Amino acid sequence: MFSEKRNKIIDCPFDEGNESMTPEEAYAIREHGKKNGAGWKIRVVPNLYAPVSKTVPESCDSEYFKIRDGCGYAEIIIETPIHNQTMDSYSINQFELYFQAIINRIVEISKDKRIKLIQIFKNNGPDSGASQTHQHSQIIAIPFIPKEIVNRFKRLKRYYEKNGSSYFYDLVEHEVASDKRVVLKNADFVAICPYDSKTPFEIMIVPTGNMTSMIFMNNQEIVSLAEIFKKLMAALRKKLRDFSFNIIFNEPPLRYRAIEKFFRFYINIIPKLTVQGGFEQATGIFINPQPPEKAAKELRTALNYGAEGRT
Ligand SMILES: [Zn+2]
Repeated sequence: MFSEKRNKIIDCPFDEGNESMTPEEAYAIREHGKKNGAGWKIRVVPNLYAPVSKTVPESCDSEYFKIRDGCGYAEIIIETPIHNQTMDSYSINQFELYFQAIINRIVEISKDKRIKLIQIFKNNGPDSGASQTHQHSQIIAIPFIPKEIVNRFKRLKRYYEKNGSSYFYDLVEHEVASDKRVVLKNADFVAICPYDSKTPFEIMIVPTGNMTSMIFMNNQEIVSLAEIFKKLMAALRKKLRDFSFNIIFNEPPLRYRAIEKFFRFYINIIPKLTVQGGFEQATGIFINPQPPEKAAKELRTALNYGAEGRT
């Protein structure tokens, strides 16, 4: 017979007190206690079920298929010691610690000269690809730049060369001026429902200044981003209740030069409300039943209703 408490302690490797169930931590902020013990607020550990590893296996290219080796890093950010906490209930300080953990891992992993891209993302809820309910994000760092990202950078560079200004500069100027798709903004960030939203309530967070990576955020900017996230998650929760979502942190490939002219880091929050059908998979064209202007309006309304007491 299992009580809920006993079941939780036995089963969840991300709970406080179960640190021995995970590999040695790569990073942690703790109030008290020792490394790999209790007393932490946020922890980063290697992923036990990693798709990549630090060692380089033998290459096995064939005439027809090119197989990339799995050299890289796979880590888990355990965002809270509390098993059933949801992201919309995080304090501003919890969001700050979350971003500081991400910054630490980007800085540390990028010291490995083999690594070309650090992808940080969060799968939350049964429709997002999450296999663990305890709040966590993932870091996968790989020794090559996927073609889709190479092409994205080519497009951004071409835009700059053609227009003499960065796509992100123009995007922020245009969206703030038109105010149709802005959900929320402060001095350092603006959150919009992008014009080309692939799903209802998709959100893109962009810095208002030229910042190519999260690692360049100062303390004030980290607080600003935490405030934006806190409000957005509360608004989404109010609007969508229990919903699955992905968060994607779009960082530039490592050691790309002179990208400050045409790139800013940005973050996508993507609620999983629609299913990718055959047409989407065949064509890469997404059918979004909800215009982003309507999504932004509904989220702004939810923000106003939920503003008081939500810090
Ligand atoms: Zn747990």
